[in-house]
Amino acid sequence: MKALVKEKADVGLWLKDVPEPELGISDVLIKVKRAAICGTDMHIYNWDDWAQNTIPVPMVVGHEFVGEIVKVGSNVIDFHPGQIVSGEGHVVCSRCRNCMAGHRHLCAHASGIGVNWPGAFAEYVALPMSNVWEHRPGIDLDVASLFDPLGNAVHTALQWDLLGEDVLITGAGPIGSMAAAVCRHAGARHVVITDVVPERLETAKKLGATRTVDVRNQNLKDVQAELGMIEGFDVGLEMSGNSSALNDLIENMCHGGKVSILGIQTKGAEINWETVIFNMLTIKGIYGREMYATWYKMSVMVENGLDISPVITHRLPYQEFQEGFDLMNAGEASKVVLNWEA
Ligand code: NAD
Ligand code: ZN
Repeated sequence: MKALVKEKADVGLWLKDVPEPELGISDVLIKVKRAAICGTDMHIYNWDDWAQNTIPVPMVVGHEFVGEIVKVGSNVIDFHPGQIVSGEGHVVCSRCRNCMAGHRHLCAHASGIGVNWPGAFAEYVALPMSNVWEHRPGIDLDVASLFDPLGNAVHTALQWDLLGEDVLITGAGPIGSMAAAVCRHAGARHVVITDVVPERLETAKKLGATRTVDVRNQNLKDVQAELGMIEGFDVGLEMSGNSSALNDLIENMCHGGKVSILGIQTKGAEINWETVIFNMLTIKGIYGREMYATWYKMSVMVENGLDISPVITHRLPYQEFQEGFDLMNAGEASKVVLNWEA
């Protein structure tokens, strides 16, 4: 089969013929229809320090996808060929304390599909049946390919009560923009989102952000005053990975505000702990998605009108993957979806 492979320890990915994945008795074989490029794939493509320390080569990469089941292992009874599915990107151990308690997203020994488990930038991917999520009939395939990053957005946003609340999102990347859509769908009043790239703020607006803020020339305190807000944001979602954005967020929360942090901060990033303490903020780190509470919420929200499709800026046949990675590196794309049926 064709697959995008990190073939050697160097910048780039290579389209190769590789053997089809082997199917274990509890696994499901999926013919990939669409796969999307994620920030993680960019780290792997660019072969940065994290990738060099994490990715064994050769490795088939990619983990955001949708496809059709074509074969199941002998132990699998509740999936069958023909079902349209995506895969949870974290394969958990099933044996640690949290897995045993049913808190699989807190597994102490998770592997990552397309990181250290053969990935989905390929014609076929094999996954344990416990990693498979069946989509509702009629779902748009491009949207279905985004359930992994949409799951990050949903997991981060739905930590807190959103109905009627004022939400601040820092970082209008694909995940921040999708989080804006989720917050509006969940009934937030103001959904204010920040970035330093005008195109990214435009995308966030299309997804439902009620006010976009370019922090290079606008100040969040002024925006609060303009919106008639008095006591600060009720909910804050950090989705930039930038410490200056995190500080903006902390300084603009109301007393007792709730903050979830998805954006991966640089080592040594500082915040003003006095503000956290005296304003009694609650801060929670977020990783991945809840299996499968987050997936259920995604499916029903999409079924019930949540539209994240404006986050897709480019659609390409997989043979043109290089253009997709170049667009991502140039900062010109939000979500690039590769068509593996072409
Ligand atoms: P992204 O890098 O595409 O988006 C980040 C955005 O933040 C960019 O648009 C950038 O211009 C903006 N930004 C930079 N400086 C800023 C500032 N000072 N103020 C406001 N915005 C600023 O990333 P993404 O794919 O949307 O993911 C969002 C973050 O979440 C990233 O840090 C990513 O590494 C992280 N992430 C975490 C998990 C997890 O499980 N914890 C999973 C996926 C992604
Ligand atoms: Zn575990």
